Amino acid sequence: MLTPFQNEPITDFSVESNRKRMLEAIAKVEAQLGQEYPLVINGERIYSEEKFQSMNPSEKDQVVGILQKANTDHAEQAIQVATERFEYWKRVPPEERAMILLRAATLLRNRKHEFAAWQIFEVGKNWLEADADVAEAIDYLEFYAREMIRYAQPQPLTPIATERNEYFYIPLGPVVVIPPWNFPLAIMLGMTTAALVTGNTVVLKPSSDSAVIGYKFVELMEEAGLPPGVLNLVTGPGSTVGDYLVAHPKTRMIAFTGSKEVGIHIYELAAKVQPGQKWLKRVIAEMGGKDAIIVDADADLEDAAKAVVASAFGFQGQKCSAASRLILTEPIYDDFIEAIKARTEALSIGPAKEDHPVGPVINAGAEVKILSYIEIGKGEGQLVTGGEKAEGNGYYIRPTIFKDVDENARIAQEEIFGPVLAVIKAKDFDDALRIANNTEYGLTGSVFTKDPMKIEKAKREFHVGNLYINRKCTGALVDVHPFGGFNMSGTDSKAGGRDYLLLFLQGKSVSEKYR
Ligand code: NAD
Repeated sequence: MLTPFQNEPITDFSVESNRKRMLEAIAKVEAQLGQEYPLVINGERIYSEEKFQSMNPSEKDQVVGILQKANTDHAEQAIQVATERFEYWKRVPPEERAMILLRAATLLRNRKHEFAAWQIFEVGKNWLEADADVAEAIDYLEFYAREMIRYAQPQPLTPIATERNEYFYIPLGPVVVIPPWNFPLAIMLGMTTAALVTGNTVVLKPSSDSAVIGYKFVELMEEAGLPPGVLNLVTGPGSTVGDYLVAHPKTRMIAFTGSKEVGIHIYELAAKVQPGQKWLKRVIAEMGGKDAIIVDADADLEDAAKAVVASAFGFQGQKCSAASRLILTEPIYDDFIEAIKARTEALSIGPAKEDHPVGPVINAGAEVKILSYIEIGKGEGQLVTGGEKAEGNGYYIRPTIFKDVDENARIAQEEIFGPVLAVIKAKDFDDALRIANNTEYGLTGSVFTKDPMKIEKAKREFHVGNLYINRKCTGALVDVHPFGGFNMSGTDSKAGGRDYLLLFLQGKSVSEKYR
């Protein structure tokens, strides 16, 4: 009998023994940097001729790992193996599949700091952000294991006199999982283990910016008892292997999280029925955001300022849930901007290993893109703070705030995915809500007000998948805040929620007539 699900606690790094353990894990991982990692197909380690490197964004010359650039032959092999192994894996009882997730959770809990340290080096998360990502990953394992046991129970039906009727859930087939780099363990693991525990096989193509963590995760699942060929790892460019896997007629489903542009592309490509394909592919696509925080004059302004800075600049604004628009009502406009300016300028910037509140952005391409949006912002609003690169041998950008931004400006409409906040003035609360909804996205949002009528109105009218009242708009917890957005933020698949596993299943109705 399993205990009820509980969220994994976050590590308190003000406790000396925890700091010491984290420093040991950092040293251990640092000693392993630069190693080579193979593809994993049917449990076999495969090396390709072409390689690529995953680099440390905090120290841009430091190689985190060398990975295989898979070609379409590798992708073909992986999908064939996933197809064959599905015939076996779908027959493994759900409880056994769930046990593998629970074992993986125990293993991950024991190596929590080590998995956090890999994130510090590979994507530039500070200690807290990296620790929270691992805690979320443990939560997915524990939660989806319990959810599968729940879905495996007999489903209630209305009885009729002449028949014995049953309704149960069966898996779909080979699932291609394409995650982003920004929650390099949690999102990748969440999508993959949801597919696995429901009885599907997986071809995982991690982001090239976090592919070492992809390999480490596959090793973890093997150690937890996952049989060969059930989870296959193919690393390489999305545009070649990713497209090949998505278009393949044997692919039954695609679970994607990433940008709007790639999500739309995958959705379109998957919709085209290929010769020999026997199904319409199922696609879940969780995409970008242009998330807004509304602060009204009657709010607790200190709480609000703290939450805005955390939501906008935590992990350098590289969260789909990050606040990139701040909508202020007129009476507090100037004072509130001063308050967040002071808090923002107090944030130290530096290597993730040293645990600064602000670290690097992910890579050279992201740095160029963010700096070009900052230049656009200089023409669209008034620079309050930041607006330039910061010193260091990594991709460091000063947290940047623009005020007097028009709600339709590019920096108020397009996802920048970096530490850039656009401040917009609203006449009153209703106007603020209207501005907040003036976006093609609909992922997260926060409202700061003490007025119950305004809170009710926001609940009804603020069109986002995850709405927060008087708290920051980042930091969703598994089974506390099921997560997923509306409109161009995605298919609203609500990761970490009780509907999620259904997306990886299909219902079978069986009716037997009594003699
Ligand atoms: P991205 O879209 O560039 O890449 C995501 C994944 O798609 C990567 O693994 C990449 O290799 C792959 N890919 C790229 N081109 C492909 C193609 N043609 N075919 C198949 N696969 C392809 O996104 P990213 O930079 O990794 O992540 C940041 C984005 O993810 C942001 O837009 C962010 O808002 C979004 N995101 C959304 C959520 C959510 O839950 N809604 C969560 C995290 C991140």
